[in-house]
Amino acid sequence: MRRKIVAGNWKMNNTLEEGIELAGQINDLVENTEINDVDVVIGTPFIHLTEVNKVVGEKIGVAAQNCADEKSGAYTGEISASMIKSTGSKYVILGHSERRTYYGETNEILVKKVNLTLENGLAPIFCIGEVLEEREAEKHFEVVKSQIAEGLFHLSAEEFGKVVLAYEPVWAIGTGVTASSDQAQEMHAFIRKTLVEQYGEEVANNTSILYGGSCKPSNAKELFENEDVDGGLIGGASLKAEDFMGIITAF
Ligand code: 13P
Repeated sequence: MRRKIVAGNWKMNNTLEEGIELAGQINDLVENTEINDVDVVIGTPFIHLTEVNKVVGEKIGVAAQNCADEKSGAYTGEISASMIKSTGSKYVILGHSERRTYYGETNEILVKKVNLTLENGLAPIFCIGEVLEEREAEKHFEVVKSQIAEGLFHLSAEEFGKVVLAYEPVWAIGTGVTASSDQAQEMHAFIRKTLVEQYGEEVANNTSILYGGSCKPSNAKELFENEDVDGGLIGGASLKAEDFMGIITAF
């Protein structure tokens, strides 16, 4: 069956020193707390990956927040999937709405990034989600379905089996307005149905679908109780070890 996952996305926060300290605090809490079969992931800026991988134990996986859309070569400032792999990291967050909006990341670019991530033995945490206008126009299902289809449906069932999905309604990211438990479940069930149509019941049932957007210790339990919500992708609340832990233990 599918894994429960709580993944932090630090975004562009923490100096190297601060990041090492935070990762150490999270690791201590994870090591010393009874955790209910949840995979814990920390998504750090590139500069932290190597050191954070040294700090955390077996129970925590480390994620990059992006990777290049080319293998290697003359791409100044880029970081390839194989470089990420070489730091000991296991995941790459791809298609976050901030990257789609501010850095022009299209589904076409994401296909290349997804392929390179998988070729390097890393698991994509692939983000999808509608903006407020799309929800108000009742286009949210259509938007999310096309993001999944255009970014991922070129994969074989076996390849898709390595993908983690994160539904992040853009209007809920960093706003303090979370999707209601019913809204989250409704979309997650829709996503799973979309996966059933493309890959069949088994692949769909084995795919972890995380919720992201103003998730915090006080609302995590209610969100995670839903049948199709398999965990969270956490921004702001992943920057304090106690808050992040409060979400991990909400399961
Ligand atoms: P917040 O939890 O800060 O709303 O961010 C969610 C997010 O974008 C995680 O990737």
